[in-house]
Amino acid sequence: MMDLLQKEHERVWKRLKTGKTIKDVQSTIDLLQEARNTIAADPAKASITLAKLQNPVKASFDVTNDSLKEAHSSLNKYTKALDKLFKDRPLPSTEYDALSSSPALVNRAIAMHLMREGQFSVASTFLNETAQDKTPAQPGYEGSISASDESNLSLLAFDRIRSGEIQEQFTKMYHILHELKENSNPLPAIQWAREHRTMLEARGSNLEFDLCRLRFVWLFHGGDEPQTPMPIRRQAALDYARQEFSNFMPRHLREIQQLMGAMAFSPNLEASPYRHLFNSQTSWSDVAQSFTKEFCSLLGLSADSPLYIAATAGAIALPTLLKLQTIMKAKRTEWTTQDELPVEIPLPSSYLFHSIFVCPVSKEQTTDQNPPMMMPCGHVIAQESLQRISKGNKFKCPYCPNESHPRDAQKVFL
Ligand SMILES: [Zn+2]
Repeated sequence: MMDLLQKEHERVWKRLKTGKTIKDVQSTIDLLQEARNTIAADPAKASITLAKLQNPVKASFDVTNDSLKEAHSSLNKYTKALDKLFKDRPLPSTEYDALSSSPALVNRAIAMHLMREGQFSVASTFLNETAQDKTPAQPGYEGSISASDESNLSLLAFDRIRSGEIQEQFTKMYHILHELKENSNPLPAIQWAREHRTMLEARGSNLEFDLCRLRFVWLFHGGDEPQTPMPIRRQAALDYARQEFSNFMPRHLREIQQLMGAMAFSPNLEASPYRHLFNSQTSWSDVAQSFTKEFCSLLGLSADSPLYIAATAGAIALPTLLKLQTIMKAKRTEWTTQDELPVEIPLPSSYLFHSIFVCPVSKEQTTDQNPPMMMPCGHVIAQESLQRISKGNKFKCPYCPNESHPRDAQKVFL
């Protein structure tokens, strides 16, 4: 089933890429404009020009219609394949559309996503068009974020100012990434990491060293000319190390010692215990990924687009939510608690951003008002449970034989 869909998708895509429809339409327009110019220059030629126009215009319309027909038919097949694969899988009803009351937030997420993807011109067109679009916010359901039109507008104005800044930053990021991934050139990235060394170190990031190590390995392999004889390659790497690695001595002494130790094996590194340092298939993409993450976090952004994460998490949750909706309809019940789902949605660990703690005594999720508290024995319960059990006096832990006093319990931060 999926194969069929893939095939139809490829067909539509191919047609789209090889389609000449726009060219055909343009040539019709050219033909008409030419005729208009001729008539404007010499009105006496009007009837002959129009007569001459008839056949070519008809022919060019026919060509356009034919290719449109083809496009329609492949699109139809694709839609049918989609329907077949996803039949009996309705979308959940949109009665409770929590985001309809804040279109500005949604638009902002879309614009940011486009910018992070490097689609700057699309993002700027999008921002301009959403600024012109004065569609009022849909009345939200109770409890949703209700942003007034006024704040929506100021949000967009803010975005337009900031979008310039962000665009500049992302242009820089894409340039650095391009050099890193396409040209095996980490120098712009190293430059950037150096300019932000204090902040990166404060974050515990090893980015600058990882980049320099990559450069060292690249030089050792002969750089752009892998045919270079070994002694010359090795010397180039050692020269680089002498010049750059002293900065990293305090933090990366061990790694540097490994790189230097590997040089002793250089005629036959393959057989040395250090070969993994020099033959990692993924080292460039790993470093590129860590660069993207650091770059984004210094901008105050997450490494992945929040819109992408939200949409993917939503797609994972969809089957469960649909089932839930069916059950609720059948039992005529409603789920009214806001900001919390009645069922657990299993998400991959990279999609878990906020740890929660459920008190094992009260079975309630802890909150800022009722935080988790750790007793000296190391067991954790919610503050309210602790107060209920202890009543302010020394008490026995519900999980082990230890006794403790409530004043010795410590608040746990998630
Ligand atoms: Zn305990």
